[in-house]
Amino acid sequence: MRIEVDRLSETGESFAHTYGPDELSLEDEFAHLKGEARVSGQASRKRDEVSVKGIIRSTVEVACDRCAAPVAAPLEVEFSTAFIPREQAAAVTENVELQEEDLALSFYEDGAVDVDELVREQILLALPTRQLCREECRGLCPICGKDLNIAQCSCREGEIDPRWAALADLKKNGSE
Ligand SMILES: [Zn+2]
Ligand SMILES: [Zn+2]
Repeated sequence: MRIEVDRLSETGESFAHTYGPDELSLEDEFAHLKGEARVSGQASRKRDEVSVKGIIRSTVEVACDRCAAPVAAPLEVEFSTAFIPREQAAAVTENVELQEEDLALSFYEDGAVDVDELVREQILLALPTRQLCREECRGLCPICGKDLNIAQCSCREGEIDPRWAALADLKKNGSE
């Protein structure tokens, strides 16, 4: 979906779009849409500068950090982004002060704001940095790669946990 800049006024216009899960790729190896992504908001224009505000609701499937199992993460992202024409990007990058002041600054090309790109970026930014399928996930064995939530492997057999070794020593000393 694209918003034509020419058609926008200063008072703003509402927009809404629902992306099917296959309609929008997150272009991320570890995350994809699990269901629809609904975006709605307001877009307005002041000369060349377009301001887009709104909300995105979706459920994203990400991989568990420990075992890589798919985890559904419901997301609700509010955004407020200013867009200027791509041609002006160079001028802005030189102006460090403006950059710091307005971190949510993006660019548009060919007279239209790319809403697909905006939604994709906002979702990726909102993804949890650490995601576990469950708090007590045991992860994968670093040696054989087996999912330790399903079954224990034998890689650690014969290796004595230092804590048990200490306990064994205590017992030995006590019985003397
Ligand atoms: Zn897990
Ligand atoms: Zn193993």
